[in-house]
Amino acid sequence: MKKNKLTIIIPCYNEEEVLPISSQSIKEVLFELIDQKKISNQSCILFVDDGSTDSTWKLIESLNLEDPVHFTGIKFSRNFGHQNALIAGLTVATKTSDMLITIDADLQDDIQAIKQMVIEYYNGFDVVYGVRNNRDMDTFFKRKTANYFYTIMEKIGVKMVPNHADFRLMSQRATKTLLSFKEQNIFLRGLVPLVGYPSTEVYYSRNKRFAGDSKYPLKKMLAFALEGITSFSIMPIRLVRNLGIFTFLIGIIYTLNILFQHFSGNTVTGWASLTMSICILGGIQLVSLSIIGEYIGKIYSEVKHRPRFIIEKNLDNFTEEKYFEK
Ligand code: UDP
Ligand code: MG
Repeated sequence: MKKNKLTIIIPCYNEEEVLPISSQSIKEVLFELIDQKKISNQSCILFVDDGSTDSTWKLIESLNLEDPVHFTGIKFSRNFGHQNALIAGLTVATKTSDMLITIDADLQDDIQAIKQMVIEYYNGFDVVYGVRNNRDMDTFFKRKTANYFYTIMEKIGVKMVPNHADFRLMSQRATKTLLSFKEQNIFLRGLVPLVGYPSTEVYYSRNKRFAGDSKYPLKKMLAFALEGITSFSIMPIRLVRNLGIFTFLIGIIYTLNILFQHFSGNTVTGWASLTMSICILGGIQLVSLSIIGEYIGKIYSEVKHRPRFIIEKNLDNFTEEKYFEK
């Protein structure tokens, strides 16, 4: 029999509108599992307040007062982003938990799927991906761009589970392995499959956010997609190389043509073609430089080795010795 303490990790960034309801709904699922003796009575919900500026932390504190065993939390010193919040939750909980589930605060993911995930854990799976079987709730634009994104990722050879966001269960050993990936630029959807171990999927239908606004506006979403691509593949740099070779060859052919025209006595006036080629080549060079710059920027942030998150407060005395691997 596998050991059975479950921790449900919920990243929260300005979620005062959803937290009172979602915390209770998720607690109900937790208690159902405890009552069925599928998980230990010490299982809990761990909130990670990602530097909220509203009353999110106050809500978390009062939940903890109401039920200190099943509600706990940590608070970042500032906003570090969704992915870092997940990493922090996993870091803090992994030593004391046998299974860890990450789920968003807004109940967009079906909390009933948590039960199925736990069953799959006992079936011997270390990673259970929550996969949405519909995208009806998303806008046409989000659906299309998501599809393009998965296609690009597949083309460049990154293994990812399509239509899986960060709703998943991981066993303790899978989490420990994941946390040994020390990179700063985190894209969990690409990292988790690299961990290996037996994995499976649980399907659910995704709901609309029932209150509050998405914390992922278009700009953040595009940055996240770019992060995904450039963290896992140097294919864009290879594309730049190929583009360079291609334009160089065209340039040689064009030069030969000019020489031929010259010796045939055709004085080439050529202002238009000259300007055109300067513009096109200038554009290609700038784009190429920016792609290479993107990777250099990544190296820059990796070598600085800054902390991925800073915990300002915690409700369960998550002390270094007790919770962090040395
Ligand atoms: N979130 C976070 N830090 C951020 C942005 C978002 O912890 O900087 C949390 C947010 O509170 C939510 C989850 O990440 O629990 C997913 O965000 P959201 O629902 O806004 O994204 P969407 O579902 O619209 O992609
Ligand atoms: Mg959401």
